[in-house]
Amino acid sequence: MSHELTLLPGDGIGPEVTEATVQVIEAAGVDIVWDRHRVIGATAVERGRPALPPDVVESIQERGTALKGPVTTPVGKGFTSVNVQLRQRLDLYANVRPATSLEGLDTPFDDVDLIIFRENTEGLYSGIEYFDDRLDIADSIARVTRRGSERIIRFCFEYAREHGRDHVTLAHKANILKKTSGLFLDIGNDVAADYPEIEYDDRIIDNLCMQLVTNPERYDCIVSTNLFGDILSDLTAGLVGGLGVTPGANIGDELAVFEAVHGSAPDIAGQNVANPTAMIRTAVMMLQHIGEPDAAAAIEGALFEMYREGDVLTRDVGGNASTSEFADALADRVAHHVEA
Ligand code: ATP
Repeated sequence: MSHELTLLPGDGIGPEVTEATVQVIEAAGVDIVWDRHRVIGATAVERGRPALPPDVVESIQERGTALKGPVTTPVGKGFTSVNVQLRQRLDLYANVRPATSLEGLDTPFDDVDLIIFRENTEGLYSGIEYFDDRLDIADSIARVTRRGSERIIRFCFEYAREHGRDHVTLAHKANILKKTSGLFLDIGNDVAADYPEIEYDDRIIDNLCMQLVTNPERYDCIVSTNLFGDILSDLTAGLVGGLGVTPGANIGDELAVFEAVHGSAPDIAGQNVANPTAMIRTAVMMLQHIGEPDAAAAIEGALFEMYREGDVLTRDVGGNASTSEFADALADRVAHHVEA
């Protein structure tokens, strides 16, 4: 079966890890016609276009699914994050970010298997910010809605039910943020009652961070508002080998954009040293989503073998292979898996 999908290589390390990922998907024999859009973010703004050009949005709306590399967001000034804009415009309300130990990687824990479910369209990322020049005061509105909270919490419980996971933890700061975090927690308590077979508890965000760096094996599904979810997913990435190996997906009721947790990593861009594993595992999630479970399993199996053997790995995980050397070795192995 042939698929028509949108491909957004992004910038920074985006094009390198995306190219590696497309090579590996091809080796798995999946027939994909990519609609590629390279002009996005700063590249678009330099050409006098909006940071998120309308043709990018239309392409995803028409095709339903996209694979996306990171797009750099200027810090403190300049255009609104393209990543955030895209999630809001396409109503991709569920940001799913698994953190799973990879056998063969030397990390402080070897039995982590948890998923962060981050609300992706509101909270402190609503984009409602004000600056009063006269008084030098900056305000940011953390808008939390009943609809927005209920759908991400329900998404998390439904996912847990479908995937045989048995524990949901809701992360909040309802002791201080009594209205916003308080609403999220109240809704969580109500929704949890509809899933009696799933163990449910809540944790105050700062306490949860401490628990996660001491006993991460105890956690399974963690659901939270936008900012907490963003921070938690970098933290949990760190528990399992870092941003180079952790995948992610932005899912709505109609559309999905698959995107790794990491950003554009300008410090290593263009050097052929970035680890494409996060993006490749992101593509595995995408292949499962579009109904290509065999290709997803072949890629994942080959990837796990490479890590177990440890001969060809990128430098962020202790090896000395380049991005393209890693991609070539993995693509060869995937092709063997598919043939076998
Ligand atoms: P953003 O805020 O855009 O999500 P970030 O703060 O998460 O970005 P990144 O751009 O992801 O930051 O980079 C953080 C650090 O992780 C950098 O030092 C970078 O070198 C490293 N890093 C990120 N992705 C990778 C990767 N795929 N391979 C190797 N190192 C990576």
